[in-house]
Amino acid sequence: MSESIHINNYIPIPPIFYPEGSDKPFCNCKVCGKELMESGEPYLIEKAYGQDLEKEKRQVIFEFVYCFDCVQEVHETLSVESRVKIAEYMKQNTNLEQRDAELKKHELFDVDIWLHNCVVKNQSIDEVKEFQIYALCQGGDLLFHQAPYMICGDAVDEIAGLLSNKSLDILNDLMTDLIDLPPEFSELFKTRHPILI
Ligand SMILES: [Zn+2]
Repeated sequence: MSESIHINNYIPIPPIFYPEGSDKPFCNCKVCGKELMESGEPYLIEKAYGQDLEKEKRQVIFEFVYCFDCVQEVHETLSVESRVKIAEYMKQNTNLEQRDAELKKHELFDVDIWLHNCVVKNQSIDEVKEFQIYALCQGGDLLFHQAPYMICGDAVDEIAGLLSNKSLDILNDLMTDLIDLPPEFSELFKTRHPILI
């Protein structure tokens, strides 16, 4: 799956998808180390946030970037049962294709709009305690192709609940590079892991 893909709508990767504390996008796959900027290969960014709504403080819990080969490899190591359940859940609870078509029809190529409501539960990013965001990128560009999207903590919990223990172990093993968390967020870290959807 190493060839580039062609999506007509893209923008330079916005800072919310940069590595935390950096002023530049990710440049290597976090799993295999492959270079991402020059290769033209598509890749996926996943970031998890916790936030204190009263203090309006937001904190990254973890962040990942995976090349498509690694996405595929991780998917293949998950149990078939887990994969089928997640696919069914997403089919029943989201409408990413229709949303994509609507946003494009109105030429709304603004990441804030695409991330504003959970694609499963429709909760606003300003009212959830936890959320995970996903982007499909290629070189220095973010591609508008169903992604980017946001999934709130409640939906992440439901999806994680569909995974077998073995699949959860595999995903937890990916958690090699966590952000240093202040104590108020450290509880979250114990239950959070990439779900790669
Ligand atoms: Zn990789």
